[in-house]
Amino acid sequence: MKAHDGMYIGGAWRPAAGPDVIEVVNPADEQVIATVPAGTAEDVDTAVRAARAAFPAWAATPPAERAARLAALRDVLVARKDEIAETVTAELGSPLAFSQTVHAGVPIAVAGSYADLAATYAFEERVGNSTVLHEPVGVVGAITPWNYPLHQIVAKVAPALAAGCTVVLKPAEDTPLTAQLFAEAVHEAGIPDGVFNLVTGLGPVAGQALAEHPDVDLVSFTGSTAVGKRIGAVAGAAVKRVALELGGKSANVVLPSADLAKAVNVGVANVMSNSGQTCSAWTRMLVHRDQYDEAVRLAAAAAAKYGERIGPVVNARQQARVRGYIEKGIAEGARLVAGGPESPREQGYFVSPTVFADVTPEMTIAQEEIFGPVLCVLPYEDEEDALRIANGTVYGLAGAVWAGDEAEAVAFARRMDTGQVDINGGRFNPLAPFGGYKQSGVGRELGTHGLAEYLQTKSLQF
Ligand code: NAD
Repeated sequence: MKAHDGMYIGGAWRPAAGPDVIEVVNPADEQVIATVPAGTAEDVDTAVRAARAAFPAWAATPPAERAARLAALRDVLVARKDEIAETVTAELGSPLAFSQTVHAGVPIAVAGSYADLAATYAFEERVGNSTVLHEPVGVVGAITPWNYPLHQIVAKVAPALAAGCTVVLKPAEDTPLTAQLFAEAVHEAGIPDGVFNLVTGLGPVAGQALAEHPDVDLVSFTGSTAVGKRIGAVAGAAVKRVALELGGKSANVVLPSADLAKAVNVGVANVMSNSGQTCSAWTRMLVHRDQYDEAVRLAAAAAAKYGERIGPVVNARQQARVRGYIEKGIAEGARLVAGGPESPREQGYFVSPTVFADVTPEMTIAQEEIFGPVLCVLPYEDEEDALRIANGTVYGLAGAVWAGDEAEAVAFARRMDTGQVDINGGRFNPLAPFGGYKQSGVGRELGTHGLAEYLQTKSLQF
């Protein structure tokens, strides 16, 4: 694969400060497909300086002009859609059709939404005898994971740029090629030099240097809860803004009045999608005791159908981690009804689509984020029991409720401690705020709420 051997800083590809590189591996066949530079604190510092230098002019650029640049960026992403899909498939391993529709399609929609919002957002408003100004926070440090490589980048960079902030991005080490392609798109879109900067590198080196840099005003992080807690602590100590999008263990609650087969089939598809590497995946399916056996049978059959269609997980470490959880589920007494810990193929980091029945709420597999194609099906006795189980983890990112009557599902959803709930399947909305309750995070992405993260308010009294 084509790769740049430098960092995109101040509008040009510059040599990295140090000699180290990161090997990019295709998880479907374990082959090294490219190398990219492993940035150091020095690269991060150069990039932050470039972002700082570009900030005053970009902040002062009229929102309509920022909107025009974001529209141009969206257009470049559209023009390079096939290349985006091929790149994500090469470094993440996802099936090409999924890369086309989701990995390329969703970020295009999100970039477009911020082109529109930058043009229409009320950056100034009157409140009584005051004028309230919504001003960009400054230099943003964006740290992103590999699971939706381009979406995670666009969900931070597009609102930051719409707000008038400048950005230094440290993408995940597993998927840096998509990030390089995005930097090319930014350049092609005519976004001024230094407004967006890219430093590839390892989390504990480049990522940590970015999170700790004194001239970064806001850190936006998506990834594991363990790293998120550290970044929150560093940001707290420096009194800088922070947005954290962390893990999830979302409940898919099937109420007795629901279309059981549909709820189960869509529920299984939701978990297996992207090989289970979705923070908002409905990894716990909750079914009434009377319908439980039927639901387990349907879920096992649905999972078995995914056998050949599912991509690998991202790397050997994730594969071992997911298999470890499957073994733990068996050891703690859950009943395996599909899949299992054995790798289904000789080569590539594949995990079989796996379904556990007879899972109790306190089991490890029902409490911790597995981040692989593993579904737990739990029985509940009545609605109160279902609610207790649904709300009974440290997470609160997403969820789903199914019922014969929409109002019944909404009434249940209102009682869930979680940031987003899909009613009878739902449908992706790039304008709906996304983010966590409890330990799933701080702040929101997407839509106007995502834009507001990158703004600070000043009021003028008359
Ligand atoms: P991670 O948190 O280690 O990595 C996410 C990003 O943070 C990457 O860019 C990484 O380089 C960076 N990073 C790592 N250590 C850092 C540090 N000390 N300072 C600053 N940045 C740092 O996640 P991972 O190891 O790739 O995945 C582990 C688990 O995280 C997964 O199994 C899953 O449970 C969870 N995860 C969640 C999401 C999500 O969308 N919420 C995405 C990916 C992974």
